[in-house]
Amino acid sequence: MLDKKNFYINGKWMSPSKPNDYEIINPSNEEPFATISLGYKEDIDEAVKVAKNAFIKWKETSKEERIALLEKLLTIYKKRFNEMTEAISMEMGAPMDWSASAQTTSGQSHLEDFILRLKDFNFEEHFDSKSNNHISYEPIGVCGLITPWNWPINQIALKVVPALATGCTMILKPSEIAPISAMLFAEMIDEADFPPGVFNLVNGDGLGVGTHMSGHPDIDLISFTGSTRAGKLISKNAADTIKRVCLELGGKGGNIIFADSYPNAVRDGIRNVMSNSGQSCDAPTRMLVEKPIYERAIKEAADEAKLIKVDSASKKGDHIGPVVSKAQYDKIINLIKSGIDEGATLAAGGPELPNNLNKGYFIKPTIFTNVTNDMQIAKKEIFGPVLSIISFETEEEAIKITNDTEYGLGNYLQTEDKEKAKRVARKLRSGCVYINGNAADPGTPFGGYGQSGNGREGGTWGLEEYLEVKTITGWN
Ligand code: NAD
Repeated sequence: MLDKKNFYINGKWMSPSKPNDYEIINPSNEEPFATISLGYKEDIDEAVKVAKNAFIKWKETSKEERIALLEKLLTIYKKRFNEMTEAISMEMGAPMDWSASAQTTSGQSHLEDFILRLKDFNFEEHFDSKSNNHISYEPIGVCGLITPWNWPINQIALKVVPALATGCTMILKPSEIAPISAMLFAEMIDEADFPPGVFNLVNGDGLGVGTHMSGHPDIDLISFTGSTRAGKLISKNAADTIKRVCLELGGKGGNIIFADSYPNAVRDGIRNVMSNSGQSCDAPTRMLVEKPIYERAIKEAADEAKLIKVDSASKKGDHIGPVVSKAQYDKIINLIKSGIDEGATLAAGGPELPNNLNKGYFIKPTIFTNVTNDMQIAKKEIFGPVLSIISFETEEEAIKITNDTEYGLGNYLQTEDKEKAKRVARKLRSGCVYINGNAADPGTPFGGYGQSGNGREGGTWGLEEYLEVKTITGWN
C-alpha cells in the first residue's frame, strides 16, 4: 500500500492539518493500492498563503528564466515517463499501452507545445503606430486548479504548465479518485527546482477542498475541468469574489456519417468512442447515419464493438480497461438499462459483465440503434463505452439533431465532399469539429460552447487565460 498522505506546500511534502485517510482503488481488481489524505480549509489556507507570497517574486521572473525551468521539467518528465504511465494505469484503469501512447504522451506534448508558444509570446506590445498607448500582459495571480480523473495528466498539464509559464502561482487539487499521477508530477516540479510556493498540491474532495478553493478571497482564478454539475456549483460559489472562472465541462458529441463517407468511417467512429473506455469529454457518442447506409452502418458498428476486447489495465495490448469506479460503473449500467426500457435496440454489449471477467468495473462495448434524440441515452453524458445510433435524411436534419443538446464540445463529420464538410462544420455549435478523422494539432484551442464550458485551453489561448491585460497611456 503506497503512503501518499502528505501535501506539497511551499516546496516541501507536509502532513495534512488533520488526518483524513482516503483509499485509492485500482478499478481493474477493486483493491486499494494507496492512501491519500483529504484536506481541510486549513490546508488550503496555508497553500494560498504561501502561493500569494511566492507570487511577489515569481511574477517578476523573466520569460527566459521560466522557459529554462520548464525545459528542465520536460527533461524530468521524459526520464520518468514510465512511472507516469504506471500511475495513470493503476489509478484510472487505462491499459498500459494506451496509458503510455495516449495519456502520458499528452502531458509531454502539452509541455513541449507551451514552451514553444511561450518563446513566441510577447508580454509587452505597442498599441498602434499612431498611439502613445502600451499594452502589457501580466500574470493574474494565485490560481486554483481543479482537475478530473479521466485524462489526469492531460488536464493537469493544460493548467499547471501555462500557469507556470505566465508567472502565476498555484494550488492544484487533482481528482481524489486518481491523484497519484498528480503527486508524481509534483515530485517532478520539485526535482526541477521551481521556487518554493510557486506550485502547491492539496488533495481533497469537491465539497470540502474544492468548495473552499472556489470561494477563497485570495485565489484570483479558478480553472476547472469536470462535470457540468460541479461547474455550476463552482461558478455560484466564486461569484462573491469576482474571480475569473474558466470551465471545461461535459460533452455529448455527434458524429455525422454521410452516405459518401470514406469506407472505414463507421468502424473508426466506434473505436473513437470506446477508447479510454468511453471516458472522454469529446467522445462522439451519438452517431448520426444517413438513411441510405443505415443498415450497413449498424451491422459494421455492432461487428466492430464485438471485436473490441475488455481486460485488465495491467495487461499490454490494444484492449480497453475498466471504467474508473463503482459509482461510474453503476451510473453507466443504469443508463444502459434505461436505453433498453425506452425502446432502443441493443445491437451489441449490454449490462452484463464481459465473459472473461468476474471482478473489476468492466463494461462491454455497447451499441444502441433506433435511438431518438429525446431518449436519456442520447441526452445524458454517459461517460462509458456506450454509443447511440440515430438515422437522418437531410444535411439540415443532421445539423439540427447534432446541435440539439445542452453541450457543445467536440463534433465529428465524415464525407468525401469537401464543400459540404466545411459548410456543415461552420453550422455545428461546438468548440471543435473534426472532419474525416483528422486530429487537432498541438497548440490549437480546446473548449466548449453552451454547457460544455467557457474556457479555451492549449497553445496561445491557454496562456492568455492566465493573464490580465493592462492599457498604459503616455508610454512614449
Ligand atoms: P467531477 O465534476 O465529479 O470532478 C472533477 C473535479 O472537481 C474533481 O477534482 C472533484 O473533486 C472536483 N469537484 C467536484 N465537485 C466540486 C465542487 N462542488 N467544487 C469544487 N470542486 C469540485 O468530474 P469527474 O467525474 O472527475 O470528471 C468527469 C467529467 O469531466 C465529465 O463530465 C467530463 O466530460 C469532464 N471533462 C471535461 C473536459 C473538457 O476539457 N471539457 C476534459 C475532461 C473531462
